[in-house]
Amino acid sequence: MQDRYDPKSLEPKWQKHWAVKDLFRAGARSGAQKKYVLAMLPYPSGEMHMGHTRVYCITDVLARYARKRGFDVLHPLGWDSFGLPAENAAIKEGLHPAIRTPKNIASFKEDVISLGISIDWSREITTSDPEYYRWNQWFFLRMLERGLVYRRKARVNFCPSCNTVLANEQVEDGLCWRCGSVVQEREIPEWAFRITHFADRLLEGLDGIDWPERIVTMQRNWIGRSDGLEIEFPVIGAGEDDAFRVFTTRADTIFGATYVAAAPDHPLVQRLLKGAKKKEVTAFAERVRAAARQVGEGAAAAEKEGIDTGLRARNPFTGEAIPVWVANFIVAGYGTGAVMSVPAHDQRDFEFARKYGLPIRWVVRPAEEEEVTQVAARKLVMEERAFTDYGYLFESGPFSGLPSEQARLAIAAEAQRRGIGQPSVNYHLRDWGVSRQRYWGTPIPILYCDRCDPQHKGIPVPDEDLPVVLPDIDVKEVLTGMGEPPLAKVASWVNTTCPKCGGPARREAETMDTFVDSSWYFARYLSPHEDKAPFLRHESDRWLPVDVYVGGPEHAVLHLLYFRFWTKVMEQLGLCGINEPAQKFVTQGIVKGRDGEKMSKSKGNVVSPREIIAQYGADTARLFILFAAPTEKDMDWSDEQVEGQFRFMGRLWRLFLARAEQVRGKIAHASQAQGEALELRRKTHRTIARVTQQVERMQFNTAISSLMELSNAASAFEPQDPGGEAALSEALEVLAQLLSPFAPHMAEELWAALGHPASRRDEELTLRPWPVADLPLIAEETVHIAVQVNGKLRGEVTVPAAAAEEEIRTAAASDPKVRNWIDGKTVTKVVVIPKRLVNFVVA
Ligand SMILES: [Zn+2]
Ligand SMILES: [Zn+2]
Repeated sequence: MQDRYDPKSLEPKWQKHWAVKDLFRAGARSGAQKKYVLAMLPYPSGEMHMGHTRVYCITDVLARYARKRGFDVLHPLGWDSFGLPAENAAIKEGLHPAIRTPKNIASFKEDVISLGISIDWSREITTSDPEYYRWNQWFFLRMLERGLVYRRKARVNFCPSCNTVLANEQVEDGLCWRCGSVVQEREIPEWAFRITHFADRLLEGLDGIDWPERIVTMQRNWIGRSDGLEIEFPVIGAGEDDAFRVFTTRADTIFGATYVAAAPDHPLVQRLLKGAKKKEVTAFAERVRAAARQVGEGAAAAEKEGIDTGLRARNPFTGEAIPVWVANFIVAGYGTGAVMSVPAHDQRDFEFARKYGLPIRWVVRPAEEEEVTQVAARKLVMEERAFTDYGYLFESGPFSGLPSEQARLAIAAEAQRRGIGQPSVNYHLRDWGVSRQRYWGTPIPILYCDRCDPQHKGIPVPDEDLPVVLPDIDVKEVLTGMGEPPLAKVASWVNTTCPKCGGPARREAETMDTFVDSSWYFARYLSPHEDKAPFLRHESDRWLPVDVYVGGPEHAVLHLLYFRFWTKVMEQLGLCGINEPAQKFVTQGIVKGRDGEKMSKSKGNVVSPREIIAQYGADTARLFILFAAPTEKDMDWSDEQVEGQFRFMGRLWRLFLARAEQVRGKIAHASQAQGEALELRRKTHRTIARVTQQVERMQFNTAISSLMELSNAASAFEPQDPGGEAALSEALEVLAQLLSPFAPHMAEELWAALGHPASRRDEELTLRPWPVADLPLIAEETVHIAVQVNGKLRGEVTVPAAAAEEEIRTAAASDPKVRNWIDGKTVTKVVVIPKRLVNFVVA
């Protein structure tokens, strides 16, 4: 060992050693159980961020630990290299994404390696590589054959002065990111994945996986299944079939429906309105859409607004004529695009009714509590709230008196009998629109031929013509951010021959959403260079599902939903035998800057992993990140804690420098250890047991604390005889072993100092089995205590040797055999003789 701990020289040495010996290759232990540990696919932005660093530190501990536990471990990494940032940068700076991307990847990869992450690089994939994205195209065609891809109309953001479609990220406060014009909305055809086909299976799958409850709830809400009734409210004075179909989960409140609220662009409203009213509603619809774009999809507009259309509909149960309003919170594409509004029993309807002076009528009241009647309800109006719970119906004709649960079903049955309604299931989940008007993505494998396909429904590119490769382009000419989609401007590419008639055809000029790339990459790692299939069945049978998936909670809805959807498709295609991609999912908290705020360039509080690795080494960086907070919690950057970990490394170094040579190979006499040496042995084995449990539970911060304690105990120990030297030898061996998932470079140095040459395969620390705690050695710390009742032996309990009298008494009294003799009797006295005996005296 060198005198001074110098991570700069030793860390690259070990990184090279691991690579040369190919120690992280998956599939090398074919007889062993598999463990697939996966970090979310990163976008290679050039430099690894602190957030990435944290994810890889976590997966690396799991992967290194699993290898030492004898698993065949798969721990791969690749690059989510298509996408808008590279394209936007190209528009601004004129640098081709195909030139920028490999540079970024190389730089990012270097960072991952310098952190000592144990990746099997033979499985590296790059999604912008035709070798990868041809399979996106292949999947698209298979889904098209099965009706899981279809063409629909979609509303998009459009900049009239750039004459181009904009992504949501390219709209800033309703203005074009490039020229600042006000963004409009246009309707264009797009391709969509029928993810709704799997809505129920996506819900059911959540029951069998070990994901954070919060994420499961978000998935459930996003899919948003609701069971209810679809029922017609006919328009008064219109055609016989002109009725608003509304969906409700609360049919029991129908007698309280005092108006219909429809989406501003509801087709029936558009059709029935005339003249000035129509103009007013159309202008309102336009305003609502503009506002929705600013707020962002899915977010609720703050202020509820509406217009009375002047139309009247009939409540099919009360027979009353009620007004039809359009409102900004009703969305045309969702459900039926109209709702029956029951202000007394729905808070949103309540607020709207209060604002516009619409009638509020109570028809459900709580059971035993204070009765809600039209009179008592005035109090609720004063408090500005609806009564939204289930209860008992009143003023509801023949249904009065029924509890809500029964009334829901009875009213639905009645509606069905009268032929005006039917039970219906609704989902919040929408199909997934995948067309993007961009260059840097997977070309959609579709052609349009005027002769064979006059309606332009799309002709699939034959499999043998895959991949449809992105053309090389003149960036300045094509990536202007203006006009048609970039690929439409590449005449030599977009004009082709029809595979059916041999005549002229045009390629689809749009590319796929990059979420497609990250939907199935975890399976491509199994067969990264396979050219006959996306991956091989025997590989998916071996490796799937992912055992532990680690990533940020910000992907809770979209990515995780798409990747679950894609897995169900892959199962249908017979590519794998599983239908959920990841058995366990772990979210990691964010790393905050020195000021306790989220790191961001604009705040100037970003800490770069490179900086930390250069100054302190990768091991210190890893230990700090794993130690500063539990995995799922946010953590603050702390220079003091980084220093603290660096000092811990220094202490370990000095401990081994002082003792390694002296105790090297002397472990054999461990059984002779006595007194303090025996105590050290117990400490060592307790640490093994603890760290093992802590790693299993992903409590890395407490595991590192346990290692620090053992290091302190070993430093304080002075060996006096062969038994003492053996105990210290054992402690140091165990320290090096247990440290290796956390600070692998340091661990290798310490391991080598103990006389384990890395030149011998059987001495490789990476593959050496994880230490096993000597349980009897720790168990000696408990004692068996006889339990008597009135002097007769009735049972025996085991308690810690150091247990207090109270603890011993409680343990004895709760022993089932003893309870048979004392339950129901009065204990007049308890005698406790520590480490030996308890006697209950009962009357
Ligand atoms: Zn523009
Ligand atoms: Zn044709």
